[in-house]
Amino acid sequence: MSLSDSLLRKLADQVGTPFWVYDGGLIRQRIADIKAMTAAPGLQARFAMKACPATKILAEMNAAGIWIDAVSGNEALRALHAGHPAGNTPPVICFTADVFRDNALEVVLKHGLLPNIGSPAMIDQLAAAGYKGPISIRINPGFGHGHVNTCDTGGPSSKHGIWHEDLKATAAAAEKAGLDVVMLHSHIGSGPKIQELHDNLTRLAGEFAALIPLFPKLTAVSLGGGIPHNYRERDKQTTVAPLAELFARCREIIVKAAGREIRVEIEPGRYYVAPSCTLVTRVHDVKRTQSNAKGSGATFAMVDAGFVDLVRPAMYGSYHHIEILGKDPAQGTEPIVVAGPLCESGDVFTRGGADEELNPRQLPRPEIGDLLVLRDAGAYGYAMSSNYNSIGRAPQVWVNADGSAELISRRETIEDILKPETSAPIAL
Ligand SMILES: *Cc1c(COP(=O)(O)O)cnc(C)c1O
Repeated sequence: MSLSDSLLRKLADQVGTPFWVYDGGLIRQRIADIKAMTAAPGLQARFAMKACPATKILAEMNAAGIWIDAVSGNEALRALHAGHPAGNTPPVICFTADVFRDNALEVVLKHGLLPNIGSPAMIDQLAAAGYKGPISIRINPGFGHGHVNTCDTGGPSSKHGIWHEDLKATAAAAEKAGLDVVMLHSHIGSGPKIQELHDNLTRLAGEFAALIPLFPKLTAVSLGGGIPHNYRERDKQTTVAPLAELFARCREIIVKAAGREIRVEIEPGRYYVAPSCTLVTRVHDVKRTQSNAKGSGATFAMVDAGFVDLVRPAMYGSYHHIEILGKDPAQGTEPIVVAGPLCESGDVFTRGGADEELNPRQLPRPEIGDLLVLRDAGAYGYAMSSNYNSIGRAPQVWVNADGSAELISRRETIEDILKPETSAPIAL
């Protein structure tokens, strides 16, 4: 681990808190893991860039030959900006969406990206916009799983993709519009348990195999992302090497059914980046409430990061490992609620449980000025940060394996926040 406590302290002095710091060596290791896992012929890995769309990280993916799954027009533009090639031969940037919002259609047409449609009417919308190229269809196969219900990506309650029983009609509509269906896609769960991943993907490969007669122009299928990260037991990480066999087996099922070469893609997001990033905050106060008739008292460590930075605990009750630099838990811990600066009582990092209660964490008692770090913040961390309370996004720092560091995005300023504001009249 190249992110030593002393390095984090020096960085905090240089860039201020809170800030995000990426362990570049670890990201490269994770990229190498995925490359090795998809090294067999006919397999291709993408990066679901929504997990962490920084140019620096996209450029690392490009250098390693990892393709991109983009989910908005601007994500696709960010991938192009980072050096990923346009066009669909091969379709390095795949555009996956349930809705063509804003510039999405324009970006797909202008840069010849492969659209992966998640909704039947998108065929007509593409045709009406003058699109003539190949398409991919995102399927809701009727099953799937996620780490929480709101992350369920396959099944009757999922908004994603085209329901599997509607595919005949969709195939007919695509043919009528003159659009070749070259890829079938399904992403059926973010962060499921590894056994579920095995079961779901094997089943999915069977479903794809059965659909091949309906889509004679098919050249690829995508099994989606969802390689899990163990946030609670950080020393027990999923080793992806055994998954190589799973993907090769899925490919065998599909190629056998097709009787010809079919590329099998995967598109993890979380796995590449989750453990590489630490959100570094400073403790500004430690205060207490006392028990009364309404409930029991708590000790609050007040830090300068909030859910505008890392929203996962507030949004899903997600767990992130917390440490107080320089304080050894072996010397004693007590239940601590870690809370942020926002004017919102839900601005608490130590949440969880069925009714999202405070869920204090056993931590060494912090002191004012201590650095408190939240680990494994690389996936859906900065990517989900917001400007609520007009705070401005915290800076991102990249640390190379040799310990050298680079600022990859600066702290947002009031000028950044005010930039979109105008008083432009609208002609009606
Ligand atoms: C979010 C997403 C992924 C990545 O999921 P992870 O759990 O981060 O691996 C892949 N594909 C699609 C279409 C997604 O929406």
